[in-house]
Amino acid sequence: MTITLHKNDLPDGLDFGDSVAVDTETLGLSLTRDPLCLVQLSAGDGDAYLVQMDRSSYDCPNLKALLGNPEVQKIFHFARFDVAMVQKYLGVSMTPVYCTKIASKLVRTYTDRHGLKDLTRELIGKDMSKQQQSSDWGADQLSQAQQAYAASDVLYLHQLRDKLNMMLAREGRMALAQACFDFLPTRCALDLAGWAETDIFAHA
Ligand code: MN
Repeated sequence: MTITLHKNDLPDGLDFGDSVAVDTETLGLSLTRDPLCLVQLSAGDGDAYLVQMDRSSYDCPNLKALLGNPEVQKIFHFARFDVAMVQKYLGVSMTPVYCTKIASKLVRTYTDRHGLKDLTRELIGKDMSKQQQSSDWGADQLSQAQQAYAASDVLYLHQLRDKLNMMLAREGRMALAQACFDFLPTRCALDLAGWAETDIFAHA
């Protein structure tokens, strides 16, 4: 496993294949308050690339080209947050997307534990540390522990997607999951436009 940290953008010429695992780290969990600090990527081969944002410009043409490439599936855990952050700070609307949390909720109906740590333990048998989850992602120098934590959030998403797809197919819920993934950019646009807490499908 190799973790590579890049400042401001990905280098030229990196190829992630037809699907890339993506996660973001921010200064907090508020879409209106907290800036995007770090974007993590993996091709599912055990290696991770971390891109530390230049928060004065968010100028990162290579990263934007990858995330905006319609030929590349972007895999997330809780895509709703990352897709909205990337929409807001990088101006890129990411499609197509896959969300392991939505897939889990649609198929692991025997539990209410849909966190990445729970999923990874059950479906892959690996234990993830969440120790650095609430650390300072705005720091100029990210510690080794922060980098390892940030990388671990993207390393297993391909494997999780494949396991969840088998379960979705088994239960006949693949089409429902796909429709949810297709709707995600709209759900994120609603979050950013002020309907984050409102279920516009609800009667009241
Ligand atoms: Mn993360």
